[in-house]
Amino acid sequence: MTKKIFIKNAFLIVTMDDNRTKYSNSNIVIDANKIEFVGQNVPKELLTTETEIIDAQNCVVLPGLVNTHHHFYQILTRVLKLTQDKKLFDWLVHLYYIWAKILSPETVMFSTKVACLELLLTGCTSSVDMFYVFAKNQPENLLDYEIETAKETGIRFFPCRGAMSLGKSKGGLPPDEVVQKEDTILADYERVVNKYHNPDRYSMTQVILAPCSPFSVTEELLKQTVEFAKKRQLLCHTHLAETKDEENFCIEKYGKRPLEYLKDCGWLENYCFFAHCIYLTDDEIKKLSQAGSGVSHCPTSNLRLASGIMKLKTMLDNKVNVSLAVDGSASNDSSNMLSELRQCLLVHKYFSGPESISAEDVFWIATRGGAKVLHRDDIGCIKVGNAADIVMFRIDKIGYIGALDDPLAALLYCGDTQIADTVIVNGKIVIREGHFVNFDEQKIFREYIEKYKNIIY
Ligand SMILES: [Zn+2]
Repeated sequence: MTKKIFIKNAFLIVTMDDNRTKYSNSNIVIDANKIEFVGQNVPKELLTTETEIIDAQNCVVLPGLVNTHHHFYQILTRVLKLTQDKKLFDWLVHLYYIWAKILSPETVMFSTKVACLELLLTGCTSSVDMFYVFAKNQPENLLDYEIETAKETGIRFFPCRGAMSLGKSKGGLPPDEVVQKEDTILADYERVVNKYHNPDRYSMTQVILAPCSPFSVTEELLKQTVEFAKKRQLLCHTHLAETKDEENFCIEKYGKRPLEYLKDCGWLENYCFFAHCIYLTDDEIKKLSQAGSGVSHCPTSNLRLASGIMKLKTMLDNKVNVSLAVDGSASNDSSNMLSELRQCLLVHKYFSGPESISAEDVFWIATRGGAKVLHRDDIGCIKVGNAADIVMFRIDKIGYIGALDDPLAALLYCGDTQIADTVIVNGKIVIREGHFVNFDEQKIFREYIEKYKNIIY
């Protein structure tokens, strides 16, 4: 018999189905890795004496949040004094050397563990990660260490085989020590996809191909990547239109604006998605929409590096597939997913007016939006037959008193913590009563102090 979980008498279930259905005082039954029932009256035959019961009477229950852009390896370089007050290109030029120096199988595994656990703790059950720094003095399979570690944390994972091929000597931004040759990268795409990619419904690991950005990869690599992706039915991901500096770089080097350049490399496709997309004209936004390409919106990182504010309202009005993301740990500098939703809500209320976006709209972007961008119809929504990726937040706290006219919005506007009470991924409970089932937070912190605190000096 498969394991069953009965989430009982939830204060509010927010399904994020097509009608945005919500249920009060209702229930969810999970059978193995799938949702078997959602609603008020649970048919008795669905429950057995072995069923685990979770009391949800003081919880808002949501589909697990989906994060579509991150760089886990940056965890050990959060809020560095050296780069805290720099804009993107200066920030990168300083950090490339530090990353090249500190990355190793051990630091990749440790950073991955911390990033995944922080995401899970704040309600995120699916995450993309773009790993792109392959330093010459390190083993070429650092990504494998990341994938194996992410698997241990229990998160649903979309690892990007990132890449840089345009070093300083060829007019790119990164130092030559961290770039690779195109044929090395293509051979590794093949290796990683064969080893880890699972295309099936409910898959826990799907590999994405990710040449890093227009200023760190060659035209040749961009073109070869989409060809490979098309052949193997994979998604492609890169950074696009993040700063004015990038726009100037593309115009000077290629005589084109960033989106036009990527379009000419074959990237304006529905299996491609782009992080940031700040410096796009309204016409370019329409082109993204027509192509069905996705966007990973990273509001905190964009504010932190003073890159700019993405035109979210224009994108939504044009039905662009927008998702939400925390971005890398050296520019957020947190993997707090629920906090990212709050940031998104507040910045766009200011930018486009208070009626332009609601808390519920932001939850939609961070659930259904993410699922759409990742071409997944089995996550981001609580409905029968979907993967059992469910998060629960307690609302019986001081921070929510007076806020229960709209308990869903309260999760973004109020509260004194973004820590989930319960997190279930693919039917497995990974967080219970706000604590990891399989990890000891204090022990991980001690490991940081003992091994990594002074690593960059
Ligand atoms: Zn990024």
